Amino acid sequence: MLGQIMDKQLLISSLLQHADNTSGNREIVTRTAEGPIHRYTYRDAHRRARQLANALRALDVQMGDRIATMAWNTHRHFEVYFAVSGSGAVTHTLNPRLHPSQLTYIMNHAEDAFVFVDANLLPLIESVADALHHLRGVIVMTDRAHMPETALPNILCYEELVAGHSDDFEWPVFDEKTASSLYYTSGTTGNPKGALFSHRSTVIHAYASALPDVLNMGESEVILPVVPMFHVNAWGIPYGATMVGAKMVFPGPKLDGASIHELLVDEGVTFAAGVPTIWLMLLAHWRETQSSAPALKRTVIGGSAGPESMIREFQDDHGVEVRHAWGMTEMSPLGTVSIPKPSMTDDNKRMRKQVKQGRPVFGVEMRIVDDTGTELTHDGDAFGNLEVRGPWIIDNYFKMDQSDSHNAQGWFATGDVATIDPDGYMEITDRSKDVIKSGGEWIGTIEIENLAMSHPDVVQAAVIGVPHPKWDERPLLIIVPATDKSLTHDDMTDFLRNKLTNWWLPDDTVQIDELPLGATGKVLKTRLREQFGDHKLPTV
Ligand code: ADP
Repeated sequence: MLGQIMDKQLLISSLLQHADNTSGNREIVTRTAEGPIHRYTYRDAHRRARQLANALRALDVQMGDRIATMAWNTHRHFEVYFAVSGSGAVTHTLNPRLHPSQLTYIMNHAEDAFVFVDANLLPLIESVADALHHLRGVIVMTDRAHMPETALPNILCYEELVAGHSDDFEWPVFDEKTASSLYYTSGTTGNPKGALFSHRSTVIHAYASALPDVLNMGESEVILPVVPMFHVNAWGIPYGATMVGAKMVFPGPKLDGASIHELLVDEGVTFAAGVPTIWLMLLAHWRETQSSAPALKRTVIGGSAGPESMIREFQDDHGVEVRHAWGMTEMSPLGTVSIPKPSMTDDNKRMRKQVKQGRPVFGVEMRIVDDTGTELTHDGDAFGNLEVRGPWIIDNYFKMDQSDSHNAQGWFATGDVATIDPDGYMEITDRSKDVIKSGGEWIGTIEIENLAMSHPDVVQAAVIGVPHPKWDERPLLIIVPATDKSLTHDDMTDFLRNKLTNWWLPDDTVQIDELPLGATGKVLKTRLREQFGDHKLPTV
């Protein structure tokens, strides 16, 4: 017997419509790419999204067409999200830090029909335009006064396009399984692969992310997604925050510590989300200027492991609760959040849980298996390949009939290696491709990096495996010391000795000025392996 409930489709357009109806005067604030702060409301955003939807119709954009964006987090980018998906087309966000060859590959693979681009990023599109086979036009996200010179044909000005169309637009109703947005993985090994989300998966993910023990979003919050809208939908925040009518603050292109601090303070931000490299810049700014952001209650750190030193600094020095979260492009992206349980009152125990990646959000199933696919125990020690299932996790890659990433029961292999403890907290020990294989045993690099970063004179640390004749591979520690500081291998060994199992101690330490970062702000270990792969260990 079926329940007798309306078969109402979960559509992205309904989020903005709802925000207009119930929180229409709540603000959306942007540091624009042009410079000045722009403010308006959900009602204004909804009106302009409808104008833009009419404009897309006039441009003959059809259901399912892929419409690319290459833009910072701004109100215009927010409007494009809703206008494109709401009218049945598919957003495809492009990361401006991608190599031109990757950009060309994914724009052709996605068959992007139009691209919305911030004025200062237009040169990137110009550099690849000749190689794009499906592109019909380029919309520059600015007003006429700021339109850049370009030789590209079919250039349109965003503000003129919006102004030229009426806001009389009914959001179409279609199947909630319709595709809504497309993201490509970074493709550090092989070509990037597309994860294609649906209206249904996006709306369910928004419900889940707003829950109190997930991101705790509500109308009274002021939310700053520092994480870019081209990094898996800014982790879904533009949808979740719209669902609850929270005030939203978009940082535009300025992501340095001083600029983020200014927005946090001026706008009374209560909750901000970003990757650890962003928070390093903010915390350094706070240290230098002896400042804090008094309204800021919570921050979410994800994308890479949040080290204990960072969590402590936020919490102990600035009174900001840290929520450590884990996920990936293929998961829309939210998988787990680490919040200590109410029964955990001891400070050290709470911290031991916070450095882990946490418990799954309702909807996500998770398990660890060995190389034969046998499930491993949740004792906090056994580590194996992490697999997931759930309603916002991809069941295939875009335009790939089959991939070896799913097993027969539908589990998706994340490529991460993890433990799960008896309390249900998952901890990533490594990406499977970064794990160090020493004498047949695995060494997880993340724990060593986190410990090294807790040294007061170490700003950043990365560990890679380098070849060793006896052990196959041994760990090499690569550190970025604080300004005017220098550390030897002996200094680091003394510091790490009692904190790590002996055989996990790195065999050598090198200092560099900065770590190479990938397009989403993560340390590029592939680059470090190229640079230090034949490093001569003193133990050889
Ligand atoms: P890409 O794979 O393109 O770098 P993703 O955002 O999809 O971008 O990256 C997902 C991966 O990032 C995860 O599989 C995991 O290895 C890593 N990751 C994400 N969050 C965390 C975290 N909190 N701690 C450790 N690793 C993380």
